[in-house]
Amino acid sequence: MPEKYMKVERIKHGTVIDHILPTKAFDVLRVLKLSQDRSMSILINTNSQKGGKKDILKFENLELTGEQANLVALISPQATVNIIADGKVVKKFNTEAPGVVRGILTCSNPNCISNQNEPIVSEFRLSPDENHRYVCTYCERDIVDLAKYVRL
Ligand SMILES: [Zn+2]
Repeated sequence: MPEKYMKVERIKHGTVIDHILPTKAFDVLRVLKLSQDRSMSILINTNSQKGGKKDILKFENLELTGEQANLVALISPQATVNIIADGKVVKKFNTEAPGVVRGILTCSNPNCISNQNEPIVSEFRLSPDENHRYVCTYCERDIVDLAKYVRL
């Protein structure tokens, strides 16, 4: 197949976020707060070699930090973050959901102090159980579907 018809071009320098849960790529973009005018490729519901579907994000000329890689894990815990230089993977982050998240999520409890007009930054802690559940530090309300609560 001529190269111009390839599904997605290879990137030379940048970041590839692979194994994102299907249809969650846009939520990953939101949590990373990356401006949408940069050069990127987004694959939604593409076939995974492991079977099933996945999303992939590729950014040209952008290197995610370890901290940003962990934010990806908020939305998609199994995602992998690969840093590419000269067309090769030079760094691979094992993403790990952060233990404490400040200012990124909104509490689902409208009466929570973090939702009042006070300068209180929201804060959530990862629950020690295995459900990828975050608990509000102020009102103890927990949230599971984190993508729904990413602050815009
Ligand atoms: Zn709360």
